[in-house]
Amino acid sequence: MYVVFSYGMGANGTAILLRWLFEPGTRPPELLPDLSNLVVITAHTGDEFLDTAIDVELHVYPLLAEHRVRTVQLARAGHFERDGIVVLDDTREPILCLTSGAYALSEELVTTATVPQTGGIRKHSQRFKAWVMDQFIKTLTCGEPYVHVMGYDVSEPERVVGDLALGLPNKLPTYPLLDWGWDWDACARYIYQRIGVRWKRSHCVECPFAFSVTKGGQARTIPRLLAHPYQAMDTLTMEYLAVACNPKQGLLAGKQLYDLLAAWPGGPILLDLFHRHLDAIEWAVYDVRRGFGSKPGDAMKRGQPARSMGPLVTGTRADMLAHLERAAGLLGRRLESDGRHHRVWWRRRGIYFPTVEHLLTVAPALAHDKTNPAFPKLWRNGLNAARQLELAI
Ligand code: SF4
Repeated sequence: MYVVFSYGMGANGTAILLRWLFEPGTRPPELLPDLSNLVVITAHTGDEFLDTAIDVELHVYPLLAEHRVRTVQLARAGHFERDGIVVLDDTREPILCLTSGAYALSEELVTTATVPQTGGIRKHSQRFKAWVMDQFIKTLTCGEPYVHVMGYDVSEPERVVGDLALGLPNKLPTYPLLDWGWDWDACARYIYQRIGVRWKRSHCVECPFAFSVTKGGQARTIPRLLAHPYQAMDTLTMEYLAVACNPKQGLLAGKQLYDLLAAWPGGPILLDLFHRHLDAIEWAVYDVRRGFGSKPGDAMKRGQPARSMGPLVTGTRADMLAHLERAAGLLGRRLESDGRHHRVWWRRRGIYFPTVEHLLTVAPALAHDKTNPAFPKLWRNGLNAARQLELAI
């Protein structure tokens, strides 16, 4: 029977692998006497910090290669499920950790001018990790039962409960860290004892959950961003574009990473680099329209939103700003600025729903034309609703 190990490259998964390699007595019975039926799978989002890839290449892959453990690296191939997955590597001698993936989560976010959502279930994580793994596992196991190993620790009972209900029907879930009574700190300690490395958190550069103040996330993640300026440029550009199109969309649950960096020692140096980056890339004037439905029976409560947006014209940053100023004059509206983002509001949303909003803005020319299928109806309903006071946001 296959033992499929979902390896997210964090401390939890790394500690399990190391313990199984160094202490064979801790392995499940399916991995005795050898590891020939173990398959270590990583689904890359394309956005991991580069230092994670380096740690995996330096400290984990040589051990997996020494023990001839089958190691598979996967990525989502495109926006649609019909695009399938890409097998980046499938070998018993892993060398390179291919964290740039294929179709990256950041590509999806930037082309739709948005940031990872922090509310509800992490749909993007399921799309870029769980779904990708399931496609490979289906082919690997051909419907036969398999042991599925996850690195959830004792502090994550809710994730274990969620995982029990997910996945393919022939999955036999196993959580070694629960059996061992280990949490993240215990895993980090074990790794340090075994290989002398202080293991870093594994997550996307743009992960909003990594900045949690209560768990020391900012103190961990901001220095990492400063140490990876090129990856930080992409994240700041993503946030800039999303906020230009929707002022409520900072990366940190509405708040902006930019502001956090501005107040952080060393942050302004990175932001200076960011501004020069913005000056050097192509810009666009975007037309952004949103329709908002109402909750049944309550015109004060917002229902389903939908958006239609796309670039109208592209060129240099200065030229696009000049276009926006001219558009403001032609529409008889003010060009509004918060110091970084510039917008012309054609229509602002009202207090009651349904309602609409319509703006023009300038931002890097990275987002594509995109109209949500629900948009035409919500837009029409909002336009046809009774006239009302507009909200300035
Ligand atoms: S690390 Fe964060 S941003 Fe990346 S997939 Fe997971 S939850 Fe989303």
